[in-house]
Amino acid sequence: MEQTFKGTIISGDEFEPVDGYITIKNGLIQDIEESKVAADVIIAPCFVNAHTHLGDSVIKDPPFLPLSELVQPPHGLKHRILRKTPHVELVSSMKASLNDMIKTGTCAFCDFREGGLPGVQALHEALGYDPRLKSLVLGRPDTDMNYLDYCDGTGLSSMNDLELEYVRDIVKQTREKGKRFSIHAGETDFTDISSALELHPDFLIHLTNADEKHIMDIADLNIPVTVCPRSNYITRAGVPPIGKMLDAGIIVSVGTDNVMLNSVNMFSEMEFLVKTKLYDDRQVFKLCTLNGAKQLGLDKELGSIKKGKKARLIILNKKSDNMQGIKNPLSSLVRRARPDDIINII
Ligand SMILES: [Zn+2]
Repeated sequence: MEQTFKGTIISGDEFEPVDGYITIKNGLIQDIEESKVAADVIIAPCFVNAHTHLGDSVIKDPPFLPLSELVQPPHGLKHRILRKTPHVELVSSMKASLNDMIKTGTCAFCDFREGGLPGVQALHEALGYDPRLKSLVLGRPDTDMNYLDYCDGTGLSSMNDLELEYVRDIVKQTREKGKRFSIHAGETDFTDISSALELHPDFLIHLTNADEKHIMDIADLNIPVTVCPRSNYITRAGVPPIGKMLDAGIIVSVGTDNVMLNSVNMFSEMEFLVKTKLYDDRQVFKLCTLNGAKQLGLDKELGSIKKGKKARLIILNKKSDNMQGIKNPLSSLVRRARPDDIINII
């Protein structure tokens, strides 16, 4: 089946707004043709949300507690609530967040799933076989390592919560299965960064408190980093040194982190990031799309609008009350567009 759409296309890996036509055949982008058209819509690539904890969709409005009291295993608030949550409620809450991701233009995500094998299975039950969302699910041990056969690898909390030898064994078993390993580091302070680097993770989460030496080490090891700006702000963890990471050549992506702290809406993350830290529309959009796809190993098919890639697109109304009169489609997309400006998701 072939479809053609016209509008302002946020085109290529440089995200250059181009007026014209985009042709889709059998779900792939077949052609992008520049042309003077009445461009009433913006056609953008879908988002990649590079770090979520969908399990805590069951806790949407926790009190403002210190981070350790909220999320630290095993006695943090979220873990106490998750242990008490019936399976059916957990699955339906995660399903709602997955639907919210789809409706707000995300087409791929990476989740750190707690609770061992049952936790991983609950997320798969919520996901079903929905082709609209690509997932990378990283489980963590509960009583044993049997979750590894049912997900894409291991995602751990922090080396400050764990014994090095124990984690080394988990990493070894993860690698023996040919799967991915990732860990939070540098969220509340820098003390867990060096030990996390010793484990050679596929990517790191947060690095809010990384100093210049850490950044150089991470760049040398070629480890991508996911930052979670809204999450860091609400937990008062600080502001990640994103500019310095980018200058060092690190691939930086963006995640909305715990659903109990933030919605999974990437428009909110973009607006927050561009107005509090990066002040660079193109860079922010890249972090939320192509860089996330690179980190998840999906950039050959997702992350930007290019010939041959999958046509996973967000079509936004340029004439909505919020968007009418915009002059720079990319800047407006990053700084002010909202889910209610979406006309269609392909
Ligand atoms: Zn996290």
